[in-house]
Amino acid sequence: MRVSVIGLGAMGATLARIFQQRGHAVTVWNRSPEKAEPLVRAGVMLAASAAEAVAASPVTVVCVYDRAASDAILHPAPVAAAVRGKVVVQLTTGGPKEAQAASLWAQSQGARYLEGAIQAAPSQMGQADTPLLLSGESATYRDVQDLLRCAAGHLVYLGEQIEAAATMDLATLSYVYGAYLGFMHGARLAEVHGVDVVRYGEIVRSVAPSFGAFFEHQAGVIKSGDFRISESPLRISVEATARILQASAEAGVDTRVPKLSADLLRQADVAGYAGEELAALIKVFRS
Ligand code: NAP
Repeated sequence: MRVSVIGLGAMGATLARIFQQRGHAVTVWNRSPEKAEPLVRAGVMLAASAAEAVAASPVTVVCVYDRAASDAILHPAPVAAAVRGKVVVQLTTGGPKEAQAASLWAQSQGARYLEGAIQAAPSQMGQADTPLLLSGESATYRDVQDLLRCAAGHLVYLGEQIEAAATMDLATLSYVYGAYLGFMHGARLAEVHGVDVVRYGEIVRSVAPSFGAFFEHQAGVIKSGDFRISESPLRISVEATARILQASAEAGVDTRVPKLSADLLRQADVAGYAGEELAALIKVFRS
């Protein structure tokens, strides 16, 4: 298949190299053309302009710094004209609103458009388990899935709602950063008490799959709306988060992270959810 890649930063260059290595005919364009040199030596075509790159292939993958950069590349008239009848796969990280705007723009130019969110680092691309979230028209997804699977073996197609991939990216990153703040707080507790922080990291890794399964169960409870206790009464977490807060204060550790958890759980308790499944906390967030 012929494919064009716009953007040769750490991620775009990796994508272009993988497509080329898997036997696709690759054309690239980058604002700074010198970044294409190693790829050109490997047999990739360098287009003289973004419009020329788009024109060279039925599918163009865009992966630049942000959506402002992507708009600056795609919106000028020559590129807008070149995208007619083509597929644009947007792998530049963006938010739900940007996804909607980009999709409307593509539609108005007569292009087919797929939104993607890469959830891996460049060195992790091209593996069977590399995750890539995608959303957009199912027929477009079907047409490019084999190509994209070269770059990320674990494609997660989230349906036709165009902002789904960007939203899911935000949701999962929100989970990651929340967990990371908790991880940092735990590391500081370990440090202050002279407990081995490396051992702490090992334990966190070993318990991650079972907590993942627990969170998956909580998501099912949220969707069902049935908050009768099925795994973990919310009351336990009210007590646990209060205990972490108190112990942190006693140890002289920054209390911002445990205070947030304890405050939210206490609010759920006050609202009368202590005797329900932990997932009833969602009702505090909804209010
Ligand atoms: P990067 O190494 O910083 O490269 C940025 C790219 O954007 C370069 O090709 C750069 O061109 C281009 N660019 C920036 N501003 C531009 C502008 N105004 N006009 C035209 N081109 C412009 O970034 P990256 O790591 O490849 O990331 C690319 C996208 O992948 C981002 O949206 C990022 O969030 C996403 N992503 C990256 C990772 C990662 O670990 N790297 C992981 C997941 C998702 P020049 O070469 O000319 O500067």
